[in-house]
Amino acid sequence: MIQSSLEFFKNLLPKKCVNCGEDIEEQHECYGNKCDKCLGVIEE
Ligand SMILES: [Zn+2]
Repeated sequence: MIQSSLEFFKNLLPKKCVNCGEDIEEQHECYGNKCDKCLGVIEE
């Protein structure tokens, strides 16, 4: 079965921080794809 690439990535991204690439521990996904460190550092 060929699923949407987005569906596939959705399952992988939440595991890694999109900012630094660190592995994200089991946390609330409502924050997005950032680790605890990046969540505390607002860089914009
Ligand atoms: Zn990070």
